[in-house]
Amino acid sequence: MSRKIINAILSRSNRTILCDILYNSQITDVIEKEEVPDKPAGLADYICSKRKTPIGLTNSINANYCVVLPGSVDPHVHYDDPGFEWREDFYTGTLAAAFGGVSTVADMPCTSIPAVINAANLQHKLKVISKKAVVDFALWGGVSGTEFKDDTVRNNMLELKDQGVIGFKTYLISGMKDFTSLTPSQLAEVALIAKELDMPVAVHAEDKVFVESTRAKFQKENKNEIHHYCQTRGVEAEVLAIKKVIGIAQRTGAHFHIVHLSSKRGLVLIEEAQARGVQITTETCPHFLAFTHEDFVKKGGILKTAPAVKFQEDKKALWEGLKSGAISFVATDHASCDYPREKNTGNIWTDYAGVPGSELMVPYIFSDGFMSGKLSLQTIQKILSENAAKNYKLDSYKGSISIGKDADFVLIDPLEKTKVDQKKLHSKGKYSPFHDRIFKCRVEKTIIRGNIIIDHATLFVDPGFGSYYKSNIKTK
Ligand SMILES: [Zn+2]
Repeated sequence: MSRKIINAILSRSNRTILCDILYNSQITDVIEKEEVPDKPAGLADYICSKRKTPIGLTNSINANYCVVLPGSVDPHVHYDDPGFEWREDFYTGTLAAAFGGVSTVADMPCTSIPAVINAANLQHKLKVISKKAVVDFALWGGVSGTEFKDDTVRNNMLELKDQGVIGFKTYLISGMKDFTSLTPSQLAEVALIAKELDMPVAVHAEDKVFVESTRAKFQKENKNEIHHYCQTRGVEAEVLAIKKVIGIAQRTGAHFHIVHLSSKRGLVLIEEAQARGVQITTETCPHFLAFTHEDFVKKGGILKTAPAVKFQEDKKALWEGLKSGAISFVATDHASCDYPREKNTGNIWTDYAGVPGSELMVPYIFSDGFMSGKLSLQTIQKILSENAAKNYKLDSYKGSISIGKDADFVLIDPLEKTKVDQKKLHSKGKYSPFHDRIFKCRVEKTIIRGNIIIDHATLFVDPGFGSYYKSNIKTK
């Protein structure tokens, strides 16, 4: 039976419009009613003047003038399952996503055991996580430095493409023993195969030699402060690696994607390469948009990530990169740990690097991006959903509110506020550098394929509801 969301504020081709949305499991129609103010203050006044107590409706949801975005896509998460379940599992990870308005996640290949480097390992992972998923998901394949024998890499990549992975994750530096880094020449080899397969190669871009030699020097000199860690995983490490990746992208013509971009200088290199026609895209993370080195010193290990957070000028440049489109989207790099044990080791070198982010991405970006006036609603929609879906060829069904797409929505109330309480987050790791921050909005509902998943902080589906989505596949 057809259902309806009434009085939803949508961003439609650069205009903000009050609409009704008709759907079953997919969207069947979008009816435009009137244009509404697109700036945050004007929009808030409009909502105040229109909003009444919602009346009960059968087969309909009264959005009551909430902003409705396509269900958000978080294309870079580490839900640690199977293998590192003491940190996170696919249920708690996707639960955090659901509560945060994320309807689709893409899980990385390296933080599950065995790593997803071939079809058998992918099938094993799929069997474990499918029973636990609350939101829809896609999977990354990966290429580890351990695979470079005979035709192993090529065969594995072909297999993984058949399994529907959205791309191949690689590292120029890796702390993982089962998923090791690639040398630049190995990365170039991967690039040529990926180009043939028309698949993106994602790179963790920090220079191995720079990071390891700087760290060894500091440790030898007993320099163990946060700013020493920040120098090892600082701007220089990122810039050196991005230069190498751009060189390989240029020579091979493969599509490279730089994950978790953190610096202005890295962004400038990427912008210049894009202008020359090099196929290179990038993402950034909420922690790089919100925090600096000074915050890291104040908050301590809780804000430790790799790369490390940078400086005010980097933050500013990353916001500008999102506005201009040079940075395609936001991703969380969600990586939870056993908190406080693994975050509080008494030594910055051994504290766990990573923060759980899936639950806070949408409200943070909506609040700091749109409500603060930095980005238009249209840009918010692109960076939280549309662009990631396109980059990974999930856009036949995800990423936009248009006829034929999955009925995935997040309803956001711009008149409400959210105060972050890390103890109440749904990830296993009850910690966040955003603890105590107030976001100028609230996620009200998450809807996936026409089903209400979350309504006012209550979950309405069982584990296993989430479906596996393959890249490039039009119909499920
Ligand atoms: Zn990651």
